[in-house]
Amino acid sequence: MSETRNLPETEAEWRERLSDDEYHILREAGTEPRGTSPLLDEKGDGVFRCAGCGQALFDAETKYDSGTGWPSFWEPVADDAVATEPDPGLLGERTEVLCSRCDGHLGHVFGDGPEPTGDRYCMNGLALTFDPADE
Ligand SMILES: [Zn+2]
Repeated sequence: MSETRNLPETEAEWRERLSDDEYHILREAGTEPRGTSPLLDEKGDGVFRCAGCGQALFDAETKYDSGTGWPSFWEPVADDAVATEPDPGLLGERTEVLCSRCDGHLGHVFGDGPEPTGDRYCMNGLALTFDPADE
């Protein structure tokens, strides 16, 4: 998948498009178990896109190994690629990161990332697809 896709209009259509696990992350703000994403080891050039709608979210150049067990990036591909929302919870207030196009839950952003931004976008691999750059 290398293009954006039309947005489903109903939750039933989302269920049809997504696997059960993807649906749980993107539409129900779930979290995948740490260390389970095949994208953790993805080190090639390309773009990471929203698994829900195909919008480009992160350039592979901003991916880094955070050691957390979730794919991590220090900057979105564009300021308006993602939206953020306060996410109060048992673990203290966190900042939720959503796809700005389909409102799919992607993960959270923390302030302990590397230079130059100091941000750590902690993403669920199931919320992303990798679109490799042409050789
Ligand atoms: Zn999306």
